[in-house]
Amino acid sequence: MFVSKDKEVFFVNSIINWYSKFRRNFPWRYENDPYRVLIAEIMLQRTRAKQVLPAYLEFLSRFPDIQSISRSEIDIIRATISSLGLERRTHTIKNMANFLLTYYGGVVPSDPTVLKNIPGIGQYISDAVGVFAFNMRTTVIDTNVVRIVTRYFGIPLVGKIRTRKNFVNFCQELSNYVSPNDIKAFNWGLLDLGATICTSSPKCKSCPLSNNCNYYSGK
Ligand code: SF4
Repeated sequence: MFVSKDKEVFFVNSIINWYSKFRRNFPWRYENDPYRVLIAEIMLQRTRAKQVLPAYLEFLSRFPDIQSISRSEIDIIRATISSLGLERRTHTIKNMANFLLTYYGGVVPSDPTVLKNIPGIGQYISDAVGVFAFNMRTTVIDTNVVRIVTRYFGIPLVGKIRTRKNFVNFCQELSNYVSPNDIKAFNWGLLDLGATICTSSPKCKSCPLSNNCNYYSGK
């Protein structure tokens, strides 16, 4: 598949510009503390941001650091995030805290491969922490990003494309056009566009990508 550089640059710049005007605001987007970013990303997995908000704030007031999670009974952690569902998330948080306390002195490491290997964390959360806490230059790929990228670039959406190597590499190439100062805006812009505009029934007339989008032009 050939994709022109102009089309890629238009994609990146349009997302960043759109985000500066239409961004959604959540408290975790103002955080630089990797611990707080990590907790937000664990809670946001398969859960709507609005639902996460109260649980996130309560959790951080009870558990201000990794040590406090490690000291806590698992039932207290479970009760604090029970509104989010997904029982395994309780174990993910407890295991993560014990692991980071044992091997990293209770500090979230900047190397995403460390987080990725903790059970329940995985590629998405480790990439998100890399970008949102450490300004890592990468594209965080979730189902929203897959939908936007495949529609805009006209990539057939077949099989498990999200984990396919050439698709992942293509998404990472896009982040090469993003300056380090804009890498968070680019990734949050993708998330917000996927949540509000490029949904399963896309609102193409309101989309900043429509002038160049294969899906919209019917290519
Ligand atoms: Fe999605 Fe439509 Fe925007 Fe294309 S123009 S990226 S299909 S919302």
